[in-house]
Amino acid sequence: MRRLKAAAPLAALLTVFAVISACASGGPRDLSPMVSVEPPMPANVTINPEIETTSSSGDDCGDPTVSLRPQGLDIPPGSTMDKIRKRRKLVVGVDQNTFLFGFRNPATGQLEGFDIDIAKAIAEKLLGHPAAAKFRAITSDQRIEALKSGKVDIVVRTMTINCERRKDIEFSSVYYVAGQRVLVKKASEYKGLEDLGGKRVCATSGSTSLRNIAASPAKPIPVAVDNWSDCLVMMQQGQVEAISTDDTILAGMAQQDPTLHVVGDRFTEEPYGIGIPKENKDMVRYVNAVLEEIRNGLWQQSYNKWLKPALGSNSPPRPKYR
Ligand code: GLU
Repeated sequence: MRRLKAAAPLAALLTVFAVISACASGGPRDLSPMVSVEPPMPANVTINPEIETTSSSGDDCGDPTVSLRPQGLDIPPGSTMDKIRKRRKLVVGVDQNTFLFGFRNPATGQLEGFDIDIAKAIAEKLLGHPAAAKFRAITSDQRIEALKSGKVDIVVRTMTINCERRKDIEFSSVYYVAGQRVLVKKASEYKGLEDLGGKRVCATSGSTSLRNIAASPAKPIPVAVDNWSDCLVMMQQGQVEAISTDDTILAGMAQQDPTLHVVGDRFTEEPYGIGIPKENKDMVRYVNAVLEEIRNGLWQQSYNKWLKPALGSNSPPRPKYR
């Protein structure tokens, strides 16, 4: 007992001594030791990942952009739409890192962009209010799994319709047609992917863009990341020479960073559709009916607001139905 009492002041004294000596040696004050000047990498970067570039299994589905014919905006009892109405929210997988399409406005903290406008219009038709759209931020690579697992009702996220994806999910009719191009520093000489052999070119994992980079005969080195904003950061830090994806996404980055510009022609066609779980055919028809209405108004308004300044005048693509 007596020994314990004596030990307490001694321990306190030792602590004080330890703190003083640590300060003297620059210990606790040394909050950010300058051990490295290398720019940090974003999380989950893979340089030269293995990518299947030959067959896209499912190439034989005919025209993948042909969708189910709309049958009006009625909501039959027991339908997918009826279930969504009963829970009073439409869960939408979106992007939060892509300026102009799905991004967080730093002033308001709200998600905004062309895809966000379309998602809100569907929520408004179905539930009476755009705020009934509950957004889940997902990466390019998470889109199909989010739909298959039922974590989201729809995906509105710069998503290209193709046969391979149609094996796993359904798509609405086409609501925009983008095309892949290349973004480089204005100060560089690069004019397209053909000039980027052996150079690092960034795109998101699970995107058509990454596969197209890997398949390029010029043999650029693909760099895979989670989000398009990671590509922009890596470009600014000199960790990649170029970014290659849809002209829509690149237009947003060029606006964010005036030292960058888009070069070369479009070398793919990327028809965007709204992703919907395969079993919810009624929802595909319903979303297509909403898109029919949007084409006559909101589409143009939203396009003019977000995309026209960078991409020029455009009008909604004509839907194809089966
Ligand atoms: N449209 C392309 C795709 O769906 C690239 C855009 C993206 O992944 O966000 O894969």
